[in-house]
Amino acid sequence: MNVLSFVLSILKMNNANRYINKSILGIFAHPDDETSSAGCTFTKFAQMGANVTVITATRGELGTLGTGDLSVSREELPAVRERELSKVLSLFGANPPILLGYKDQEVELQKTEVISERLRDHMDLIQPDVVITFGPQGISRHSDHIAIHQAALSAFNLYKRDIDKKVSLLYVAIPELVAKEFDLDIDGPETQPNVFVPTHEYIGVKIKALRAYKSQEDAQEFAVWLENSSEYYESFKIVDVDEDTIIAFENLLED
Ligand SMILES: [Zn+2]
Repeated sequence: MNVLSFVLSILKMNNANRYINKSILGIFAHPDDETSSAGCTFTKFAQMGANVTVITATRGELGTLGTGDLSVSREELPAVRERELSKVLSLFGANPPILLGYKDQEVELQKTEVISERLRDHMDLIQPDVVITFGPQGISRHSDHIAIHQAALSAFNLYKRDIDKKVSLLYVAIPELVAKEFDLDIDGPETQPNVFVPTHEYIGVKIKALRAYKSQEDAQEFAVWLENSSEYYESFKIVDVDEDTIIAFENLLED
């Protein structure tokens, strides 16, 4: 081994342990939300040692019933989507999924306090340094996304109040121009990202993960879009930080 490759291997080893005591929690509504929103981010920081966990509210029972040569029945779909989610989280190097077991399009029928309490219990166990979830318009204005935003925000505020360390809440956010390209009817914090995660090293994993959601048309379409886009960032809005301040995700994990 020459000196350069020795130094590089030490650097790589240090990088793999860099965030060994740090924890990132994603809270989403449907299997595949986590991949579209933050697949590269979860992969990057899991590879750097962070403990990555994703909580998903539903099994996406009302999603599409297969793409390509895959065709599943409505009854089979929840189990299929749960398997897809498990596979994807292991691709990211994240923990196995935590499912809240609500029904697709019924999250808003639950009491926010009840969901919030369950999320708070998970936060107490996981002790996340960073929580990533949807903003107030849920990116697509899907009622489940909005309901999960409200419950996650309320759980995070209680968790933050009682914990003695720096913790950050991030909303999935998309620059206005990109939101227009995807025909998303959003404004406010969700179009004002102030954290940008470059994806070039991890985009292959994200595309593979989207492909793994073979039951879902949207995931396949997004994979095609990513394959054809030359530059792509995952982006977020840190809650309670001035919109003009751009912050590196790494800063949120430093003490
Ligand atoms: Zn969704």
